[in-house]
Amino acid sequence: MIMRSLPLFSLTVLLGVLSLTEHAEATESRELRFPPLKDGRLLLSVDTHTHTVFSDGHVWPTVRVWEANKDRLDAMAITEHLEYQPNRDDIPHPDRNRAFELAVKENKQGRERTDLLLISGAEITRKYAPGHVNALFIEDTNPLLTVKLRREETFATARKALKAAKAQQGFMIWNHPAWPRDFPDGVIKISKEQQSLFDEGLIQGIEVANGEYFNDSSLQVALDHDLTIIGASDIHGLIDYDYDINGGSHRTVTLAFANERSVEGIAAALFQKQTVAVYDRQFIGRETELQTLFDSLMRFERLPARRNDSQQTAVRISNAGPIDIELEVLSDVSLNKSAGYVTVPSHGSTIIVVLDHAPSDDMKLTLKWLNSWQAPKTHARIDVGL
Ligand SMILES: [Zn+2]
Ligand SMILES: [Zn+2]
Repeated sequence: MIMRSLPLFSLTVLLGVLSLTEHAEATESRELRFPPLKDGRLLLSVDTHTHTVFSDGHVWPTVRVWEANKDRLDAMAITEHLEYQPNRDDIPHPDRNRAFELAVKENKQGRERTDLLLISGAEITRKYAPGHVNALFIEDTNPLLTVKLRREETFATARKALKAAKAQQGFMIWNHPAWPRDFPDGVIKISKEQQSLFDEGLIQGIEVANGEYFNDSSLQVALDHDLTIIGASDIHGLIDYDYDINGGSHRTVTLAFANERSVEGIAAALFQKQTVAVYDRQFIGRETELQTLFDSLMRFERLPARRNDSQQTAVRISNAGPIDIELEVLSDVSLNKSAGYVTVPSHGSTIIVVLDHAPSDDMKLTLKWLNSWQAPKTHARIDVGL
């Protein structure tokens, strides 16, 4: 009896281990880690816009660090409103760098050892123009506070703040540009004042996606005014309350194509417009960066033909990234097992079978990358030679 029960016991242990493995895989799906680009650069996920109780957020800075680690971000900025401080009576903090310092402390000495990079920043808060503007990579945010009273919150004092940020080699992003408070119809109109900020290099980037919003008009502004394309969470509450993480969604972030894994490397990528925004399983970027990204994430292999399949070619499409890739096959080929729409799962692969195609022939596939946007209502087109 004892001998017989042993294998059963082992089976139970094995099953237990198996279900643990599955669970681990399920929780990993939220992790926003990408493989390096083919040209050797790194693909770093960055949230450029977050809040804590030190402005109008609802959590202590340590919680932001924990969440960022749960999402396995490469980097996160803390960007409190400089002028809007609704918790000031409860949490007085004349030093506007305090939230960032607490996050840094948690990152260094906290409960987890991780490789998260933290970026200092601040949100300069005005009505349009210029609207809300994040300044990143600055040593000291205090000089960016250029007002004491509400009535001083003008374009002139905002410009002064932006100049103070530029003096510290700051990178400035126009946040949620299509905000209904500024543009009730959702269509952005660039004023003379705003244009002057672009011209003087006082605003270099634009959030095409902010939290749960992606606005076509802001992507058009990015393209028309040669601004860096940014996506960010602008999280005030909890990531797990605002996003359907279990349903496969993720916070809105920017992918920075960086030469090195450092805050300086990310800054250089942003200044050089080497970015793609990632919003609700969709990629938003310029054509060149989307092509580079696709080329690095995706692999196409022709599989050896089976003996009687002289008229069919099987192609395995693999996706090394953490987000499913949706494709439409545009080439004039017939497909077996699919109607031309293909989902390539994250960290996985799928096989398409091209009919009427001898396995020895060269093959060219033209694809539409359905969860990418290189301009309003325009997906990236991909050519693959096989
Ligand atoms: Zn804002
Ligand atoms: Zn904000």
